[in-house]
Amino acid sequence: MKVHEYQAKGLFADYGVPVDKSILCKTPEEAVAAYKKLGVQRCVVKAQVHTGGRGKAGGVKLATNETEVRQYANAILGMNIKGFVVDRILIGEAVNIKAEYYVSIVIDRKSKGAILMLSREGGMDIEAVAKDTPEKIFKIAIDPAIGLTDFKAREAAFKLFDDMAQVKQAVPLFQKLYRLFVEKDASLAEINPLVLTQECELKAIDAKMTFDNNALYRHPDIFDMFEPTAEEQKEQEAKEKGFSYVNLGGEIGCMVNGAGLAMATMDMIKLYGGNPANFLDIGGSSNPQKIVEAMKLLLADQHVRVVLINIFGGITRCDDVAKGLIEAFKTLQTNLPIVIRLTGTNEKEGRELLKGTSFIVAETMSEAGRKAVEAAR
Ligand code: GDP
Ligand code: MN
Repeated sequence: MKVHEYQAKGLFADYGVPVDKSILCKTPEEAVAAYKKLGVQRCVVKAQVHTGGRGKAGGVKLATNETEVRQYANAILGMNIKGFVVDRILIGEAVNIKAEYYVSIVIDRKSKGAILMLSREGGMDIEAVAKDTPEKIFKIAIDPAIGLTDFKAREAAFKLFDDMAQVKQAVPLFQKLYRLFVEKDASLAEINPLVLTQECELKAIDAKMTFDNNALYRHPDIFDMFEPTAEEQKEQEAKEKGFSYVNLGGEIGCMVNGAGLAMATMDMIKLYGGNPANFLDIGGSSNPQKIVEAMKLLLADQHVRVVLINIFGGITRCDDVAKGLIEAFKTLQTNLPIVIRLTGTNEKEGRELLKGTSFIVAETMSEAGRKAVEAAR
């Protein structure tokens, strides 16, 4: 789950990570009022959207008087940045930048824990730095059992700074950021740029955080900030109905019982040259109501051209599943081809029941994959 810069900065402030003073605004009038309230000569006007690269898209402007604040607020509000329409802006006290650094804490699969990533080449082109000069990005693994110790934090600080005065500021800053990362179950806490001001202070002037969705139940304060996209909305609704659903954008809608089988089904579709529209695990029942709900979910996806139902009958018997499917499709209106593969307990009886229906019945997994891909063409 993503949050906006202003929300991440709020969390930074709660944990003592230094940030610039800023005020969230929804209109140009509010922006002007915020500018006056900050009482600074120069301020930044920044788009608040769930995507990076706002600076390059024209969503970050430096204003030096009221007229400019109004003008930039007007221009940025309503702007479309990578598909996100700006409905909020942040008015921040402009800082005098001496140098920009990159700092982040992220989960690293290789070391199976959090790592601190650092670079002296912070600012807007960190992706290019990572690609062209990866040696300029330092990674320090943090042992989850002991946390970010003083000596590790100092080792990290020396990667960025040569001056002891800055190292002394950076050490507690990294440790506070790590505490925030762990306590809120974040998957990313990024400062780009962390700036050294002309006054020799370290400040986070941008902040980005993402959180582990599986841990949101224990962070109601974070969950309150959830602004789902249309896709996430759908995934959330599916979750509430007891499904595990992920949209993947392909043309073959999948309805499968069991996560492992769902993964294997997606592989099979890929093998025959098709693309799964989604991952959907409907769990272990053949309840017609559940099948109807799952089908509705699939049919609401405009990309879906074929539905592939792959069911393994263990405790649930295949003939019951077949009955459930026939029952469910009485209430569903669709012209889409439906490929069904049933295997396990009473599979023959199940297939027998499906004979003479409009379902395309397959016996094996590969036959089902092949038939679904053919039907999609
Ligand atoms: P992003 O493009 O979405 O990552 O937005 P940032 O918040 O990182 O801003 C982009 C760039 O704008 C930064 O790298 C800075 O160079 C510049 N910038 C942001 N805030 C300030 C500020 O307060 N003063 C000055 N001089 N530049 C700023
Ligand atoms: Mn940035």
